[in-house]
Amino acid sequence: MSKQPADRLQAGPAPLVRLERVTKRFGDQTVLDHLDFSVEAGRHVTLIGPSGSGKTTILRLLMTLLKPDEGTITVAGDRLFPAPERQIREVRKKIGMVFQQFNLFPNMTVLRNVTEAPVTVLGLSRDEAEARARELLDLVGLADKCDARPSQLSGGQQQRVAIARALAMRPRVLLLDEVTSALDPELVAGVLDVLRDIARSTDITMLCVTHEMNFARDISDQVLMFDSGRVIESGPPEQIFGDAEHERTREFLSAVL
Ligand code: ADP
Repeated sequence: MSKQPADRLQAGPAPLVRLERVTKRFGDQTVLDHLDFSVEAGRHVTLIGPSGSGKTTILRLLMTLLKPDEGTITVAGDRLFPAPERQIREVRKKIGMVFQQFNLFPNMTVLRNVTEAPVTVLGLSRDEAEARARELLDLVGLADKCDARPSQLSGGQQQRVAIARALAMRPRVLLLDEVTSALDPELVAGVLDVLRDIARSTDITMLCVTHEMNFARDISDQVLMFDSGRVIESGPPEQIFGDAEHERTREFLSAVL
């Protein structure tokens, strides 16, 4: 029998996502400089801060769309970076992401968009994948749109399909990158309501980058304020939004609220 689970228990509850001394440069610009940062399982963490402060870069590193120049990244106790390609592909399955642009497959029905990866990547039977997809489409309020094509849906509905599609892979952590930025204002609330429901009704860990401060306040257990690639302040939302310690945080919030 493998000794691994007992060893892990003895080691105590490791954070679900851990970045240690992560550095990322673009040319001669150092965007993240030896960043340490971790997210515990089940937490809903929001990254806020000025544009260009490195928030999206963190999500892209976790999605393995970018590689760090230095440092280590661990997800659920397994090394994501540095690691051999095969391990990166395995660990990467623990992470789901929803982007600003929904990136649905235009030629597939809504149901097929949600079942495709679970069948081809996770090896679920089509029946199993469809049953799960129907539950998730119900969760995001689109049970009646299974047979529609993405082009027949509003932007808000497409984004809700993208959320169901990400959850269908049963990720341990869901990354949300400004998921309402591309939506018409009247469609934003529906998407945020769905995410609030998911945060309340599932034990999924969430890491969000958002400009929607009310959403950040509402959904987060922890808010991290970024500036120039560093976390300058972190705490529960009532502290960050009500009683921020740093002048820079207060300035940022007064400009965006
Ligand atoms: P935020 O999400 O906080 O707005 P980003 O992580 O998107 O910030 O960007 C941080 C910095 O890195 C910015 O100065 C941006 O111009 C730069 N940057 C991001 N991606 C790239 C890239 N692919 N090539 C060059 N520079 C980039």
